[in-house]
Amino acid sequence: MISAMQTPHLSRQTGKPETRPRWKRELAEAIRDPDELCQILGLDPALGRAAVGASGVFPFLVPRGFVARMQPGNPTDPLLLQVLPQPDELHEVPGFSADPLAEHHARRAGGMLQKYAGRCLLLLTGGCAINCRYCFRREFPYAESGATPASTPAALAAVQADPTLREVILSGGDPLLIDDPQLEHLLDHLEAIPHLRRLRIHSRLPVVLPSRLTSRLLDRLSGSRLTVSLVIHANHPAELDETVAHALRQAAAAIPLRLNQAVLLRGINDSADTLADLSERLLDLGVSPYYLHLLDAVTGTSAFAVSDRRGQELITALRQRLPGYAVPRLARELPGEPSKHWLA
Ligand SMILES: *Cc1c(COP(=O)(O)O)cnc(C)c1O
Ligand code: SF4
Repeated sequence: MISAMQTPHLSRQTGKPETRPRWKRELAEAIRDPDELCQILGLDPALGRAAVGASGVFPFLVPRGFVARMQPGNPTDPLLLQVLPQPDELHEVPGFSADPLAEHHARRAGGMLQKYAGRCLLLLTGGCAINCRYCFRREFPYAESGATPASTPAALAAVQADPTLREVILSGGDPLLIDDPQLEHLLDHLEAIPHLRRLRIHSRLPVVLPSRLTSRLLDRLSGSRLTVSLVIHANHPAELDETVAHALRQAAAAIPLRLNQAVLLRGINDSADTLADLSERLLDLGVSPYYLHLLDAVTGTSAFAVSDRRGQELITALRQRLPGYAVPRLARELPGEPSKHWLA
């Protein structure tokens, strides 16, 4: 039998045998044109034209594997609505601003951000494999944040200098956009810092580009002296198809603690049925619901906002249907607080 490993895959771009890991190829082939997306899904071309006009400074980007989980012909598909630019994004709305969390105050070194005791974020890249329209990155001043791998030495020095830190959280953008050799190098450094005990990875790539969980990466993580956890980001049960399930099952052997954070989004997951299905699907895949975030009030995202009160009602409804460990914490970030603010 000839395995897929032995059959050279030809690059769509160069026609030559492919040497890149599969996830890099899939990232390069992601859809960047809303017209193409509408064509694939059999949607009205006017939607695509409106989306081109609405993209503004935050471009359209979605991997093909994520599109394959959308329902053809449905303009209100919950996965589609997360990525398709809408004209109202460009309107100014009172209460929505570029930096609602005043995060620039928490930056301790280029690419290192600490707000809470004992743990800090390393911002490894400003990039991501998808552009969710509700993302804070749409307004985040990445050019000034120093969130590039080149700034990691300064960030590592800040971690090294603070013995109260027990946990480092890899974040971004999406930290798994950094490739395996670079992550291995970073892990070597982190493991050499004696006061660190835990490493947490916050990434949506296991959901939107599951091939990113390479066996090389999982092997390296399972061999770490740090206790590793992975916080994925899925908002709707339809995001968790068999490709994601397979990747998460493989991750389970290497990463003892797997959690999910979701964002509560109007028209996408603001119903008790959808949230209950999401929790059940996550549990089936060995992932515990962790946070359900209320949206940060970032410019251009107001169409997705759900009120605090509605969020609390939904959590109450989940408690009546699910075991306690299947109910996420409803949380919002407030500037200057010593932890995330839990509303339920
Ligand atoms: C969300 C967040 C964390 C992690 O908070 P936990 O409650 O530990 O999950 C850490 N640092 C910053 C800056 C955060 O925004
Ligand atoms: S996956 Fe996260 S970082 Fe990437 S665009 Fe979506 S919300 Fe932003």
